[in-house]
Amino acid sequence: MSATDQYNPRAAALQQLAATAERIGLDPIIHEKLKHPKRILTVAVPTAMDDGTERVFTGYRVQHSMERGPCKGGIRYHPEVTLDEVIALAMWMTWKCAVVNIPFGGAKGGVNCNPKEMSQPELERMTRRFAAELVPIIGPGMDIPAPDVYTNPQVMAWIMDTYSMNKGFVALGVVTGKPIELGGSHGRETATARGCHICVLEALRALGRTPEECTVVVQGFGNAGSYAALFAHEDGAKVVAVSDSKGGVYCPNGLDINSLRRHKQLTGTVQGFEGCDDLTNEELLELPCDVLIPAALENVITAENAGRIQAKIVAEAANGPTVPEAQPILDSNGVLVIPDILANAGGVTVSYFEWVQSTQTYFWSAAEVDSRLRETMVRAFHEVQEESHRRRTNLRDAALNLAVARVAKAQSLRGIYP
Ligand code: NAD
Repeated sequence: MSATDQYNPRAAALQQLAATAERIGLDPIIHEKLKHPKRILTVAVPTAMDDGTERVFTGYRVQHSMERGPCKGGIRYHPEVTLDEVIALAMWMTWKCAVVNIPFGGAKGGVNCNPKEMSQPELERMTRRFAAELVPIIGPGMDIPAPDVYTNPQVMAWIMDTYSMNKGFVALGVVTGKPIELGGSHGRETATARGCHICVLEALRALGRTPEECTVVVQGFGNAGSYAALFAHEDGAKVVAVSDSKGGVYCPNGLDINSLRRHKQLTGTVQGFEGCDDLTNEELLELPCDVLIPAALENVITAENAGRIQAKIVAEAANGPTVPEAQPILDSNGVLVIPDILANAGGVTVSYFEWVQSTQTYFWSAAEVDSRLRETMVRAFHEVQEESHRRRTNLRDAALNLAVARVAKAQSLRGIYP
C-alpha cells in the first residue's frame, strides 16, 4: 500500500479546512461551499502507441474555486495520480494563490500514466488528446494550467498549441511555464525553488542564523528540488544530501550541486555520485541537518517518522509532504515548518507574472521578475509570521487562516449566483 492510499490527501485537505473554519469562525455556508470543487472533469485519453497498439489513460482536471479570479494549477503525469489527490491539490492551489494574494483561484490536473516509459511522440499524442478534452473548460480567463510532476515547458507548448488550433487564434495566456520562445517568462523555471529559498532565508533571519552556517537536505531533484539545492549551495549552505525516485546520496562535507546536476543528466539518477554514500529516501528525511526541503511527492513525513526528523526548519517545496498527524509532533519538537502553500508559492507567483505578460504581450526582464517575486514572497512570509504570532499558531495554521479568510471574503462579496 502506498502512502497516498494510507493517507488520503483529499481527507487531509478537508480536515485542514474544517480546522481552519473553526479557528477563524468561518460562516458555515461558505465552509460548505469551499468543501466542494466548483468543477470536476474526468476524461478518457485514448493514445496511439509507437508499437501500433492503443492505450486509454485517465485524465482529470479539478477546478476548486474561481472566487478570486481564473483557476490556476499544474498538470501532473504520474502512475499514482488519483482523483482524490487532484481534488486536494486543487484546493491547496486556492489557498496558495490567496496566501500570496494573487488574483487566481485553484485548480489541478493529472493523467494517470508512466511518462518514464513513454516516448516523446507518445507523450505528445497523449498530451494533445488530453488538452483537446480540456478546451471547453480552460482559457486565459477561465483556467490556466502549468507544469507539475513529470510535465515541463514542452508539454505546456503542446497544450497551448492544441488550444490555439481549436480556438482559431493564438492564446499565449492559456498556460504558464511555457518555453521562453513561446511567451514564457524569465524566472519561471526557477521560481518555485527561488520562492522556497526566499522563505528559508527569512526564517533563518528570524532565528538569527545565516545560510553559511547551515546544512541542507533535499528530497526530490527535479524542477523544485534541484534548484532549491542549487540556491542553497550558491548562498554558502552545505547541501549534505539529495535524492530522486531511485534513492539519495549523502556527503557530510557538502555536495557540489552543479556537478551533481550534470551527473543526474548523464545517468538519470543522483545515486552513484563520486565521493558520496548512497542512502534511501526514508533515511534521507531523518538525517541531522538545519534545513530539510521535501521537494518530491505527498505524505512523506508521517506520524511514524515525524519524531525522528532532526531538521530545525522544514521548507515544503512539495505539495502535501507532511500528513496532518505529523504536524503536532514536529511542533512539539520545535521544528519550524514553512508550509507548502507558502514555501512553494513562488511557482504560481511567477506563473501569474507570466500570465500578465502573455495577456499584455509585453515582456519583463529576468531582474524585474526576480525582484517582484522577492517582494511578493517576503511580504507573504511576514504576513503569515505576524498571523502566527497574533494567534500563537504554527505557520501552517497561520497561512491557512489568512488564505481561507481571503477566499471567504471574496465569496461573500460576490454572493451566490443567481
Ligand atoms: P519534477 O517532475 O521536476 O521532479 C520530481 C522529482 O521528484 C524528481 O527528481 C523525481 O525523481 C523525484 N521523485 C519522484 N518520486 C519520488 C519518490 N518517491 N521519492 C523521492 N523522490 C521522488 O517535479 P517538480 O515540478 O519539481 O515537483 C515536485 C513537487 O513540487 C511536487 O509536489 C509539486 O507539486 C511541487 N511544486 C512544483 C511546482 C513547479 O513549479 N514545478 C510548483 C509548486 C509546487
